[in-house]
Amino acid sequence: MKIIDSHIHLDTYCAEEQKQILANEDFSYLITVSMHLQSAITNLQLAKKDQRVQAAFGFHPEQPLPSEKEIQQLLTWMDEHQDEMVAVGEVGLPYYLRQEQAAVDLEAYIALLERFILFAKETNKPIILHAVYEDAPIVCDLLENHNVTKAHFHWFKGSKETVKRMISNGYYISITPDICYEEEIQQLVQSYPLELMMVETDGPWPFEERFEGQMTSPSMIHESIKKIAHIKQVEIENVYEILYQNTIKFYELV
Ligand SMILES: [Zn+2]
Repeated sequence: MKIIDSHIHLDTYCAEEQKQILANEDFSYLITVSMHLQSAITNLQLAKKDQRVQAAFGFHPEQPLPSEKEIQQLLTWMDEHQDEMVAVGEVGLPYYLRQEQAAVDLEAYIALLERFILFAKETNKPIILHAVYEDAPIVCDLLENHNVTKAHFHWFKGSKETVKRMISNGYYISITPDICYEEEIQQLVQSYPLELMMVETDGPWPFEERFEGQMTSPSMIHESIKKIAHIKQVEIENVYEILYQNTIKFYELV
């Protein structure tokens, strides 16, 4: 059964772990997302070495804002490498950073995200979003204002109203292995159409319960798919096929 990890940070694993994933794991593709320029450069190198590795370039929002010079450097580099870029990402808003630091300048992050949305629109690439809870409607506003529809909300969590809005806009979400033990995610899978769903690990982010102490890797996706099939009451083979085709179509992989 074919799988695609639609969101992983392959560059942040150590070289030994990267080798282990690429040599020993059975998957069709990995979408490796970037934290910043250096991360994008590393991901591009990884993508050049293995055609199953597809790189996305962006600036992760859960870190201090870059300077204007750094933003310019990143956008210029992305522009120069757009043919090697499968999507813009990971970009979004700093939800978890704001829980720790009340003084985070949200407006500045929104302005930065808007530049990435415009870049995705101009280059006609999908955009990979980190936008959870009350940040998600802000991001939906931006996407709607700019008529951007190829949006992938990775590891999404949010209100019922936002879920409805995202479904009617045709936005995709992806499910991590925490579907196996998080009721919040199980309910999300219940309410979101399979046709707009993908699977991911967000590796090397660690998981709990049955995954405790294990290095996060694409093979965990088999457990996620088993759980999704159970919740959706759909034959597991069909779930594999639907999720695979969704990802192929969304990222225009061949
Ligand atoms: Zn991520």
